[in-house]
Formats: sequence, structure tokens, C-alpha cells
Amino acid sequence: MGDIVFQNTLGAERQVFVSLHPGQVRMYTCGPTVYDFAHIGNFRTFVFQDILRRFLRSRGFEVIQVTNFTDVDDRIITKAAEAKLDIRDFTAKYIEAFLADQRVLGIKEPEYMVRATDHIEDMVQLIERLTAKGFTYVSDGSVYFRISQFPDYGKLTHVDTAGIKAGARVDVDRYDKADARDFALWKAPKPGEFVWKTRIGPGRPGWHIECSAMAMKHLGETIDIHSGGVDLAFPHHENEIAQSEAATGKPFVRYWLHAEHLLVDSQKMAKSLGNFYTLRDLLEKGNKPSTLRFLLASVPYRRQLNFTQEGLQQAVSSVERLRNFATRLDTGKFPEGTSALSEGAERARENFERGLEDDLNTAQALAAVFDVAMDHGAFRQGDVAPVRKTLENFDAIFAVLQDDDEEKLRSIAMEAHASIPSNEKIEELVAARQVARKTRDFAKADRIRQELANQGIILEDSKDGIVRWKRK
Ligand code: AMP
Ligand code: ZN
Repeated sequence: MGDIVFQNTLGAERQVFVSLHPGQVRMYTCGPTVYDFAHIGNFRTFVFQDILRRFLRSRGFEVIQVTNFTDVDDRIITKAAEAKLDIRDFTAKYIEAFLADQRVLGIKEPEYMVRATDHIEDMVQLIERLTAKGFTYVSDGSVYFRISQFPDYGKLTHVDTAGIKAGARVDVDRYDKADARDFALWKAPKPGEFVWKTRIGPGRPGWHIECSAMAMKHLGETIDIHSGGVDLAFPHHENEIAQSEAATGKPFVRYWLHAEHLLVDSQKMAKSLGNFYTLRDLLEKGNKPSTLRFLLASVPYRRQLNFTQEGLQQAVSSVERLRNFATRLDTGKFPEGTSALSEGAERARENFERGLEDDLNTAQALAAVFDVAMDHGAFRQGDVAPVRKTLENFDAIFAVLQDDDEEKLRSIAMEAHASIPSNEKIEELVAARQVARKTRDFAKADRIRQELANQGIILEDSKDGIVRWKRK
């Protein structure tokens, strides 16, 4: 077996992977912000992380993976207040849903799935450490990280800090490169907000300190791999590096891996565009878990994944083809002897490994397996074992061969995904939307359009005021 090579965002180069502790990989994956059900874009990243984990396991590494639930941040605080719930109560439902969704997609549960709100003391300690080293200051009760104190600031994403005025601050958790400033480690309470009373004052943590504290607590001060979607590289991961390395004086992460985003029909997913899907939306439309997993896994993580109806169709037939092939291997009767397929299977196995070694090139790995699964011609009994081995290696990573979709759907009470709406129901909703529009209740009209879109119904408003609809 060859070396594993990763494209490291830090340094922007391909590097041979060597773990810090022989035989063991310690990795941290930023988990979901639990203010809603996770969407299919989130799962693109989570499936990539699962493929990564499974691949490292298949290479004999012990993997210690920590994933967090961001269960306190700006968005959660706003949404929980709207729902008039305590943040723990508000997030509980989404945490439970996430765990179920993860199982449905065949994502192995990490060794540690931890909640930010269970690590407040660790965050306070980390902030105290930074204060003791002169990296923080307090303003209006909030504690900020002084980025001018950390000369390496920007090394991950090359943000330009030259023009930033000393003391310029940013309070929100998510912001653009143009807003690079001193960021909040600890935020002073706002009226009505839940607060933790701590040694550094009352308040709540900023988003970035959460991951640094949880990663270092469970994995140590230098970890092997840290990953997330590209949107997290700045400011989240840049700030994680600054806080962690300022506190410890050691490199925080050796390999940073960032997944490109999933697009739907070549567009960014947005609720306003009606192209925003949670996993559950797609299951309700009748898609199988294995189809979704296969599709999400099939595009190498450093490439954008364009999620389309055709892509789904292709994934359906790919999984079917592989399953049929596996069944034929198990049940078919073949003439004695071996054919060139035995060697072909071995070659496929090697190419499969070569693909994954190359920064997890799943497309190349899949092509190798399909080369074997295509070839039926001169199949002999002696080919069964080597070909089966190729499929086993494949399925240890891709995990789609077992025909357990119905079972998985049942586990989240989605077997009745025959929730495809009837014509009558659609007409009723279309009429209700027309009424809402007439009474200028556009918010309601948009909600109905969205509800229909979620069920695969597209509306077309024509100039003559007639609304036509079609199923996707
Ligand atoms: P969040 O819940 O927003 O913190 O995101 C959870 C994970 O999903 C992070 O790793 C994000 O970078 C990732 N993510 C968010 N949107 C997308 C997308 N459209 N495609 C791929 N990954 C995404
Ligand atoms: Zn994080």
C-alpha cells in the first residue's frame, strides 16, 4: 500500500499523511449547529468525514474522532428565544434528529460526540490561559482576542490583517474576511439571554473558543486532522488556530481538510430559492438512504458537488448495479476455474486504494470498482473470492451494499415516505397561496410555496394570474 496524501489547506499543498502517534489518528470534525434539522449540504461534509474515518480505519489506524454539537451560538440564542425555550431544551430535538439522521446515512458514530454547553469550564480555563499570556482584553464585559498579538494570524486563509486598527472588534460569530478583527472569546450578557456565571464574568462563549476547548480537552494540544466545510475555514478555523496556538505555543492541527460545498442545480441552497433540502425532505420524497449516501460520497470532497435529479437517478442505478452484482456473486453458479477477472479484481482493489490515497479521490476509487462490477462475460467460480474481496473493501468505505434502506427509514419513522401529496392536496395549497397573495400576506404565500417545493412540487406563476404546478 502506498502513502496517504492529503491536500492540506494549511500551506495549500499536498502532503504525505503521517500521524503524530504511530498507529493512531486523532481528528476533530466540526459538528452541526443544532438550531434546525441538518441539510443535505451539511451531510455532504459529514459523509466525507465518515469516508475519511473509514479509510483510515481500513489502513489499520485507531481513529479517535471528536465531533461537537454547537449548542450555543448567535443563531441558537435567537431561535431559542423565539421559541421561548431554554437553549438546552430547544437544541435537544435537533441533536436527537441529527443522531438518527447520521445512523440513516451510515455515518459511524465518532468516539466522542460532545456538547459545547457541557464544556463551559474548559472554555473559561482556556480564556484564562490566554489572558495570563496577554492575548485578551475586556470591553463592555466581553473578552476579546487581540489578533495583533498573534503574528501568525491568517496563516490558514491568508486574510490580510495589515489595515486592521488596533482594538477594532467583531461581536458576531460568523463574519467575512473583510471583517477580520479582534473577535469575542466570551460575550457579555444581553438582556433576557441565558448566562453562565463564571470566573471571567457572566456571559456565554463565542463560537470559536468552543471547538478549541473541546478539541484540546479530548485529543490533546496537537491533533492530526481537523475538518469541516469550506465556509468554516474563515473565520472559525483561523480563530481556532489563533486561540489554541496562542495558549499552548504548539501547532494545533497538522492537517486541515475542507470540503467544498454542495450546490443544488448549480445554485447555492437557500430557503428563499425553494431548493433547500434537509435529509428528511429528501427521504420523504421517496429517496433511499443508500442513494443519498452514494451520491454524497461519489464526488471527491475538494470538488463542489452539484446535487441534481439526474445525479440522484444515476446514484439509484449505480447502487442497484452493485447490489445486483453482489447478489449474483453469492447465488450464481459458474464454471470451474478462474479467468482474467481474478487478476482484474486485484487490480481494481489496488486502484481503489490508489484513488483513496490520493486525497480521498472517491471518483477514481469508484471507477475501479465499476470496472469489475461491469465485467460479466467469462466469470468462473474461482473468481468469486477475489471479486468478493474487492467488493468488501469497497463497502467497508462506501457502505451501500446492504439492502437495509427500509429498516433505516423505519428507524426514524419514515417508512411512510409515501407522503407524496395528492393532486387534491396540492390544489388546496395552491389556492391557499393565491388567497394569501391577494391579501398581501406574502410571508404566508412564500411559506406555502416552500412547503410545496419541499414535496417536489414546482409552481409557475403566469402573467394571466393562473398558477400552474408540476411535480419535479
Ligand atoms: P453548521 O451546522 O452550519 O455549523 O455546519 C455543519 C457542517 O456543514 C460544517 O462543516 C459546514 O462547513 C458544512 N456545510 C454547511 N453548508 C454546506 C454545504 N452547502 N455543502 C457542504 N457542507 C456544508
Ligand atoms: Zn468548530
